[in-house]
Amino acid sequence: MDVEFLGGAGEIGRSAVLIDDSLLIDYGMASESPPQYPVGDVDPDAVVVSHGHLDHVGAVPALLSGTEQPPVHWTPPTRELALTLAEDTLKLHGGSPRCPFTENDVRRIGEVSETHGYREPFEAAGYEVTFYDAGHIPGSAHVLVSDGDTRLLYTGDFHTDEQRLVSATTDRPDADAVICESTYSDVSHEDRGDVEASFVETLRTTVWQGGTVVVPAFAIGRTQEIMLVCAAHDIDCYVDGMGQRVIEQLRHHTAFLRDADAFRGAVSNARFVDGRDGQRRRIADQNAVVVTTSGMLSGGPAMTYVPAIADQPVNTIAMTGYQVEGTPGRDLLETGSAEIDGRVMPVSAQVEAYDFSAHADREGLQSFLDAYRDSRLLINHGDRCESFARELRAEGYDASAPTLGETVTLS
Ligand SMILES: [Zn+2]
Repeated sequence: MDVEFLGGAGEIGRSAVLIDDSLLIDYGMASESPPQYPVGDVDPDAVVVSHGHLDHVGAVPALLSGTEQPPVHWTPPTRELALTLAEDTLKLHGGSPRCPFTENDVRRIGEVSETHGYREPFEAAGYEVTFYDAGHIPGSAHVLVSDGDTRLLYTGDFHTDEQRLVSATTDRPDADAVICESTYSDVSHEDRGDVEASFVETLRTTVWQGGTVVVPAFAIGRTQEIMLVCAAHDIDCYVDGMGQRVIEQLRHHTAFLRDADAFRGAVSNARFVDGRDGQRRRIADQNAVVVTTSGMLSGGPAMTYVPAIADQPVNTIAMTGYQVEGTPGRDLLETGSAEIDGRVMPVSAQVEAYDFSAHADREGLQSFLDAYRDSRLLINHGDRCESFARELRAEGYDASAPTLGETVTLS
């Protein structure tokens, strides 16, 4: 089995792995400008997608522009999320080099899509493929590929701790080789309960003192997690931005959620914002909590809320996700000011950051890999893959970190 790393090798973004020039796993894009796509020309016989985040699925519609259209295999939520992301990319960048596909390509998704649940083996490009719950976001999967001789496990993004939205990964299917993500290979997450407690304390205190809290959150996964946290602690919240559409989609796929009743309860606890008639301005003036995109303050309704609350120290901006270098969110955390919607603005509101990660940390990665002591490990999806591989070798693993464009032969 030949495994070619077309993206996500020694980096995060544009994940793509090609098996024997035939089966493509993930085809993502990194949205920085200019956007980045997997390397090389691909013409796969079938495509399998691990989960519905842009860096894993964002460029999939571009595979559908030719006459040969490969089937695309994924879980039902991943299909929905992929469509949402594709439509968003079209809306923001359609017709420009920042969008690698057309409306027509996106329409074809419906024709080539084949959905599968967890632990239901299916055939793709002549391989037997099985999805296992990866515990990252709804519908996220570990992908097990077997050619009859060699079994390869592609972990995709995963989490070994429980989140309110999804349960942790528990399946450890046998595999001869494992391609393992390593986003947080040198980080130990603070206990999730403690993170949640201090987050809730901040929301309560700010509102009590007469302030407004803006909670920037990624549309897929994080917005729903924060909505669940608010409901669990009886905190009213507004929900704005693309996360609303994701909530609507997940209501139809509750089997992929940890607790369908809690999700329904959180939906009724939240108040949804359509932004009409100056609604956002009015909300910003209330003592309220607003969960909104974008998670790194690079667009979305946050562009209205943040300027409206920035000049008052009684207000709070509570960041809930990783802030990529060069984003306004990162600048705000590091310098106390940021370019919001084209305007550099000093921020007097409190700025806090909470680690609601959906990825395994160092201990989580180690506990997962403990089940694969005898397997060959290929470390990807991180900014210190080689260092982590070296640390694993020191612990007796057969581990390496393939480079971009490299082909690894498994036997
Ligand atoms: Zn992800």
